[in-house]
Amino acid sequence: MRTQVRALKSGTARKYLEHHALTAALALHEEGAFVPWVSYLFPSELLASYGLTPLIPEVAATTLMGMDFREEVETAMNRSALPRDLCSYHRAARAALDTRLLPAPSICLGTTPLCTAKECLLDQLAQEYHVPFISIHVPLPPDEGPARPDQVSDVAGQLGALHERIGEFTGRRPALAEAMRNSSRAARAWRSVDEGRMSGDLLLDGRHMFAFAFLGQMLWGTVAGARGFERLLTERGRADLVVPTNGSEGTSGPRPRLVWLHTVPHHDDSAFETIRAHGGAVVFEEMGRTHLEEIDPADPFPGLARRLIEHPVWGSATRRARLVVELARGARADGVIHFNHWGCRQGLGTLPVLRSVLAREGIPFLTIDGDALDRPGGGSDTMTARLESFLEMLL
Ligand code: SF4
Repeated sequence: MRTQVRALKSGTARKYLEHHALTAALALHEEGAFVPWVSYLFPSELLASYGLTPLIPEVAATTLMGMDFREEVETAMNRSALPRDLCSYHRAARAALDTRLLPAPSICLGTTPLCTAKECLLDQLAQEYHVPFISIHVPLPPDEGPARPDQVSDVAGQLGALHERIGEFTGRRPALAEAMRNSSRAARAWRSVDEGRMSGDLLLDGRHMFAFAFLGQMLWGTVAGARGFERLLTERGRADLVVPTNGSEGTSGPRPRLVWLHTVPHHDDSAFETIRAHGGAVVFEEMGRTHLEEIDPADPFPGLARRLIEHPVWGSATRRARLVVELARGARADGVIHFNHWGCRQGLGTLPVLRSVLAREGIPFLTIDGDALDRPGGGSDTMTARLESFLEMLL
């Protein structure tokens, strides 16, 4: 109730989305609820078509670790048989399921992007709970240019078959065109905001924008999702996402301007506080560079397929590095930071190439170690010292 009142009072996109995501998540705990456990990039529209809310382990784990349940989840994580070098999003989600803080899956659905770890988790859960596991196999995109038509058509075929299968499994009637219209409304708003940020007209906080898009994945394809993203189009709606410019009046805005790569430490704000304390700001986040295109509601599968294949963090390290350089140049960034989330082979594996390409392009680059689910204040002194030196070098 408190969240609802806050959402209605503030009128911001962020509060609105948080309220609706939380309400939808709570409904997954109701008796008889159908609970699709899906990996983060799974096209939510395929579920919205049937009025289903995805349980995304990464989002669910993050939410629980920001609440009073953290101790319980951490204790269960420490007892878990899962290897400790596995991404903590999955270890936490597994632990939360074991302690009944998350509801059991009715079906498990995945996509090969971005990592195989989550596919292993979903497969394992499906076997334990005797429910189907279906994974969309997504080919790697070419290093340059769009995905090949045969790749798009193959993935589109898989998505179409899966959409039908969900209907057979749940016995529900689809409303995919409506879900796609909601998806397009959100994409239009998101692209408009992206263009404003790229042109320099809008200065939004990349750390908060990451969290917004992260949560938005749960509602993408729903009316609430469309309305939440459309709220970003008004000044009032994005009021709590704007970078505060205190102290930078009369200048060109906060400095240094930074691009943030990969995920963020959701509950430990120390890195961002250090950046703010130096007068800087994260002006763009790599993971926000998706869902920018509207998809044809009359023929949605090729568009959904292309969105998956061409995700900015999918494909070779060379492709990722090229996109990062484009983003850093477009956002007029002074430097780029990669968050080395513990256990993420996908993110860490591309670092050598990123490092050498950014050095060649003369773009200052820093990597900082951490865990996306670290406790508040979990950032090490070494991390803070390295970050401070980097920021001072950029000034
Ligand atoms: S952080 Fe890395 S390992 Fe974890 S879910 Fe994301 S891509 Fe997979």
